[in-house]
Amino acid sequence: MANHFRNEHRFTANDKEWHSSLLIIFSKFLKMKITPIMVYERRQFNKYIMGKRLRANQLWGECIQESGMIWLSPHHSTEPKTQTINTLFHECVHIKYPKWNETKVRKFADKHMPITVNEESAKKGFDQVYKRVKKNKR
Ligand SMILES: [Zn+2]
Repeated sequence: MANHFRNEHRFTANDKEWHSSLLIIFSKFLKMKITPIMVYERRQFNKYIMGKRLRANQLWGECIQESGMIWLSPHHSTEPKTQTINTLFHECVHIKYPKWNETKVRKFADKHMPITVNEESAKKGFDQVYKRVKKNKR
């Protein structure tokens, strides 16, 4: 699948270092058993996930609960930093509490890492959550 993101929507090395730092902080804050990891190449992420619902440019993020993999939309690069903090924390909450539904996760994440919603960059869906990696067919 082609990459639909423009060049201005690209994370710098500094951005990526900051993302990793946030994940370490959030995993300690939430007392997570696994430290989540960032996946920037969504195409690579795609082969691990089951089915496709919304397209990447309609989402802020995705995660795989079992492995703790998180994909972050490159659109964050031109959004206020609070959006990145909120999205990464939100995905960490999904991984920490796999039984919580979207409403509960969002309420919890928005309470601890609040954002002011930017209507212009509103997404169709906040994110997509996958339980586990796809098993190879035999
Ligand atoms: Zn969510």
